[in-house]
Amino acid sequence: TSGLMNGKRGVIMGVANNRSIAWGIAKACSEAGAEIALTWQGDALKKRVEPLAQELGAFMAGHCDVTDLATIDAVFSTLEEKWGKIDFVVHAIAFSDKDELTGRYLDTSRDNFARTMDISVYSFTAVAARAERIMNDGGSMLTLTYYGAEKVMPHYNVMGVAKAALEASVRYLAVDVGNRGIRVNAISAGPIKTLAASGIGDFRYILKWNEYNAPLKRTVSIEEVGNSALYLLSDLSSGVTGEVHHVDSGYHTVGMKAVDAPDI
Ligand code: NAD
Repeated sequence: TSGLMNGKRGVIMGVANNRSIAWGIAKACSEAGAEIALTWQGDALKKRVEPLAQELGAFMAGHCDVTDLATIDAVFSTLEEKWGKIDFVVHAIAFSDKDELTGRYLDTSRDNFARTMDISVYSFTAVAARAERIMNDGGSMLTLTYYGAEKVMPHYNVMGVAKAALEASVRYLAVDVGNRGIRVNAISAGPIKTLAASGIGDFRYILKWNEYNAPLKRTVSIEEVGNSALYLLSDLSSGVTGEVHHVDSGYHTVGMKAVDAPDI
């Protein structure tokens, strides 16, 4: 991949620590020659993100809490001042109340439904609108989704409903910006042990289930998601938009538990 992203600049939103999917994507883009900017959510995470940014020589573009639109505006103004134009944006942001990522979807509260949709769905649209204004023609936007958008997964609940809406947003946004050659895609990642995932009930069981039943008989790493993101963010995928690309060891293709899968 060396040189694939030479001359390209982009912002990656959603690095919390070195286990974040966004970090896997940042590493892959940087190794391929891209100049990277990172955002962080609040002072506590800034301390974690700063050394990671240094590792890649990445630009610290600012605090961003997507519930406060002014912070998204500020990040994109900073990027415009620093670089003028950008070539790609990665949105790896989601949130729901942990108490509702267990048990029944039926019990979702109105407040948490609204907050989950705001942070996990609307934020991508808000980011895309601001990114478009400073994006070069032929740029690329990417978000992260999960199979719980397509099929019912235990405990994923309101987040599954949010991811379904996020995937629909990808298609609408792809049409809105397509006339400038800008592309909008999502990666549907298999389960990975991250900070956000630790809020999901029985997550270890879900990891094991995927390990036993996915065609590749294992889960995926943030580096693998990063490499697939590199394809979607680079000109290699210049004909691909509105797509939800699964990076899940093939799990989404399987219709039934493997007959030789051990009990968990
Ligand atoms: P993570 O905890 O490392 O990253 C989640 C990020 O969301 C954090 O950086 C956090 O700061 C950010 N965030 C949450 N609320 C925010 C807000 N209000 N404003 C700004 N940022 C906010 O976990 P991750 O698993 O790397 O998650 C990244 C994305 O990947 C999410 O969209 C998640 O749903 C998705 N995803 C994760 C998995 C998995 O199994 N880990 C699988 C498929 C998709």
